[in-house]
Amino acid sequence: GEIMRLDKLVASQFSDVSRADVKKLCLKKKISVNGKLMARSDAKVDTDDEIFVNGERLVYKKHVYIMLNKPAGVVCSTKEGDSMTVLDLVPPELMRNGLFPAGRLDKDTEGFVLLTDDGELSHRMLSPKTHVPKTYFVRLEKPYQPEYADIMAAGMTIKGLDGGEDEKCLPAQFSGSDENDCECTLILHEGKFHQVKRMFAELGNKVVYLKRTAIGEMPLNGELASGKCLEILHKDVEKLL
Ligand code: URA
Repeated sequence: GEIMRLDKLVASQFSDVSRADVKKLCLKKKISVNGKLMARSDAKVDTDDEIFVNGERLVYKKHVYIMLNKPAGVVCSTKEGDSMTVLDLVPPELMRNGLFPAGRLDKDTEGFVLLTDDGELSHRMLSPKTHVPKTYFVRLEKPYQPEYADIMAAGMTIKGLDGGEDEKCLPAQFSGSDENDCECTLILHEGKFHQVKRMFAELGNKVVYLKRTAIGEMPLNGELASGKCLEILHKDVEKLL
């Protein structure tokens, strides 16, 4: 593992534990490392050591990766008026300092939001060079048209925001549902503001319901209820890229 000060290590694993708290826990003999009670919180330990805090095993994780099934009405920005934010939905045991959404959904959009405190991964995911595919389930106001797939595959041009310059989109993969002609799936390789809504608006249609169902090769877990979080295992993180 990595060599680190005990106070730094323990405090990094909880959003509500400071280094000063770790010092107090040591004085109260509440922390042991490899079976030995630790008197000093500035001792150097290994992240692979067997650490117990208040009788509970602490398995060190450098970063956390969380799949959230975002409900409509919740915002991805971390401070915005008095709407509930995605961070309000993170259970205390997964909460970390520095946790934030890697990529945003609109307030009325549902589905997969990735939350992480891994700045490097989130930077890579959001980099325009990476083009991580994002899959969306879309319900339209009017039936989709057979030409949508070709138009989107060619790379659409959409109107700029607030009268700004038009924007060229990367090729996107449209597929219509066989069962319902107002439902379809769209895969984007970028994330322009309101992109799905703007692309369908350009075609004279309107998105009435939008849900992100996958990021990269990782589908939103179908068992995950709306508003709930699931920790993504470290071995699965590469599927997000
Ligand atoms: N496209 C949109 O229009 N909204 C989202 O939230 C995501 C993609």
